[in-house]
Amino acid sequence: MERRAFTVAIDGPAAAGKGTVSRALAAHFGFAHLDTGLLYRATGLRTLDGTDPVEAARALRAADLDDDDALRTPDVAQAASRVAALPEVRAALVDFQRAFARRGGGAVLDGRDIGTVICPDAEVKLYVTASDEVRADRRHRELLDKGHDVTREAVLADLRARDARDSARAAAPLRPAPDAVQLDTSEMSIEDAVATAIAEVTRRMG
Ligand code: C5P
Repeated sequence: MERRAFTVAIDGPAAAGKGTVSRALAAHFGFAHLDTGLLYRATGLRTLDGTDPVEAARALRAADLDDDDALRTPDVAQAASRVAALPEVRAALVDFQRAFARRGGGAVLDGRDIGTVICPDAEVKLYVTASDEVRADRRHRELLDKGHDVTREAVLADLRARDARDSARAAAPLRPAPDAVQLDTSEMSIEDAVATAIAEVTRRMG
């Protein structure tokens, strides 16, 4: 039997809970999941040794997304947000993301421009947010758990700098699609946020 495509697009600022909600949705519905931030992080990581960002994006391979520890550092996050402002970098990554989104069996993609640019026809669009303070607390705890020596103030400053750059850029800026369902997770438990997202997908699946 042919497995039909069904795309869930999840966007929002850094550390709002997109990853947690996306992974839980993918597990619940048996969909594939792509954290598109990893594409920009892997590109950004390559540029730290002087590689040209557009060359780096064009040369990306699936295996480059595997080294989670190397990709999830604050320095790589900033490098990602810088290369992500370049239209040619974004263009080099579009086809891979669209093909992933339309694979049979369903897909969840999370990022900044999934509902607006990559998959404007996604069956479900969610825009996940949380207050700056809550996001900084969550990301700070994550980084400490991984052994990074960072202060909460530095994490908050990093998030605000990235949000500002991601929202202000001309190419695919961070903003909700007009038809996205907004999910503010500031005062929500993980369980409640996931349950709300599952209910939304279930409703759209009809
Ligand atoms: O989601 P994550 O924090 O890993 O993303 C790292 C950076 O990659 C973001 O700050 C943003 O600049 C960029 N990004 C993007 N578009 C996406 C996903 C991530 O511009 N779809």
